[in-house]
Amino acid sequence: AMVATRASEDRGTAQQVDVAVVGAGFSGLYLLHRLRKAGFSAVALDEAGDVGGTWYWNRYPGARCDIQTIDYSYTFDPELETAWTWSEKYAAQPEILRYLGFVADRYDLRRDIRFKTKVTEARWDEKARRWLITTDNGAPVSCRHYIMATGCLSAPKPPEIDGVKDFKGEVYFTGRWPHDGVNLAGKRVAVIGTGSSAIQSIPLIAEQAAHLTVFQRTPNFALPAHNGPAPSDRMSLLQADRAAYREQARQSMAGVPYPQQTVVSWQLSDAERRERFERAWAAGDLVHILTQLWADQAVDVDGNKIIQDLIREKIGAAVKDPETAAALMPDDHPFGAKRPCLDTNYYATYNRPNVTLVNLRQEPIKAITASGISTSSRSFDVDVIVFATGFDAMTGAIRAVHPITGRGGRSLTDVWAQGPQTYLGLTVEGFPNFFMITGPGSPSVLSNMAVSIEQHVDWVVDRLAALRDAGFTTIEPTETAQAGWNRHMADCSMVTLHRLANTWYTGANVPGKVQGLMPYTGGVGPYRSICDEVVSRGMLGFKLT
Ligand code: FAD
Repeated sequence: AMVATRASEDRGTAQQVDVAVVGAGFSGLYLLHRLRKAGFSAVALDEAGDVGGTWYWNRYPGARCDIQTIDYSYTFDPELETAWTWSEKYAAQPEILRYLGFVADRYDLRRDIRFKTKVTEARWDEKARRWLITTDNGAPVSCRHYIMATGCLSAPKPPEIDGVKDFKGEVYFTGRWPHDGVNLAGKRVAVIGTGSSAIQSIPLIAEQAAHLTVFQRTPNFALPAHNGPAPSDRMSLLQADRAAYREQARQSMAGVPYPQQTVVSWQLSDAERRERFERAWAAGDLVHILTQLWADQAVDVDGNKIIQDLIREKIGAAVKDPETAAALMPDDHPFGAKRPCLDTNYYATYNRPNVTLVNLRQEPIKAITASGISTSSRSFDVDVIVFATGFDAMTGAIRAVHPITGRGGRSLTDVWAQGPQTYLGLTVEGFPNFFMITGPGSPSVLSNMAVSIEQHVDWVVDRLAALRDAGFTTIEPTETAQAGWNRHMADCSMVTLHRLANTWYTGANVPGKVQGLMPYTGGVGPYRSICDEVVSRGMLGFKLT
């Protein structure tokens, strides 16, 4: 009775909309725009103080995209495309944030966004066939459809190390960098982590700090970005036929228009392989080096090892101290099975006299103390600790809304106790009218996310409109369809080298997280075809009521 009273009270004061969107980043902004155009009333809620998502929060030095910005853009409106010109091949965070603000203004999106509002709980009301969304700021929201555009890399992972609270100096997280910046001049700085954010920020921190000590657990493959103006060959491809260029991206494996390679590594001589590698290294492009060397690079251990060896050779040549160079060489995962990084001067930074690398595989961190960091063999006194320790990827932000209660009072946490279960990465059985953008089971983090996000959003909004027009109120996948998707996910990953790596793609970076490859490895183009086929076959795998 208590619960019933609370629910009806909530409904009395709740904001009533057709669709509630959580998140106002790349996904949430496009969702709002598309929903409005399709005639739905919608509200977006975001914990942040403004639009931008990833690009609102990640303001650390050196933060930039690592997919070329001409590809990492919205493509839904040709006029928007020509109204905006990127200044660099890889734009920095402030420019991407300005772009997302520009998009919000252009389509007048801010009036339907509630900022500084965190969604804390969501409950499906069986009788009303509506979701009730609870927030930490202002009225709850009652909606027909609930879409989580909460981001794959938006829940920073809490530090695993004891003693952070004892530390007397300054503590920063790359994923929550202060908006006014941080003055590191003359300070002794520790960076914990060597993932993408660390690799981007370390060279710039080293230039400011009196001394920088980098604490590394697992080395990553990093490639030079060769940032500058957008390369003329890519620009002319885009400008020659914008529509065809975008369409090729949509049908590609990774969301960037590169052809499928057909030559396999053993058909090439050593010299030919080296030449292809050197060309990729000089191109400074992740998708190029991940897909364009030879056809077996991502599926065959031997074809992959050739690339690993060539990159390790580059690291050896860049880093003068042989022990440091050896520590920086990844040897525990196939190239590409963990997201490689793009860098500017990363390896050369270790040649600076004010930079030290601490290899935590040899001397693990024991504790953070009042004055710094102690490993099993040494103590380092520092003034500042920067945690570049990554994210609880793909499921972190979804699970943080707790509980999400579906049909029959089942909570998503319970349903996902053994790992995420989805149909198409977009929906979950038992959770009617609930959608995730770039959820586990979607290609998302294995692609240019701008392309994946547009596809997910278009598919969801088109379905909602079709549903409404046909007189249905609910949509939910069947158990069989969901089990089938999980089977298909597993089958796809068995033919890639992803099965050989424990990474944030598999949850390995978060203690206690259920292990399993979360993104769909079948490719962006094939995924799009599957989603389209589901529609053309009468919403195969969904129950509509
Ligand atoms: P986000 O941008 O993460 O936005 C989600 C929003 O939801 C956030 O603002 C968050 O505050 C909000 N939110 C979450 N939970 C709640 C809640 N409970 N209540 C209220 N609000 C909530 N991808 C690429 O394809 N190419 C790149 O080059 C690239 N570079 C990246 C660099 C960095 C440093 C990072 C962290 C990520 C990068 N990514 C890149 C991935 C990037 O996250 C996506 O490209 C894209 O920005 C995601 O957009 P989104 O809207 O889906 O999620």
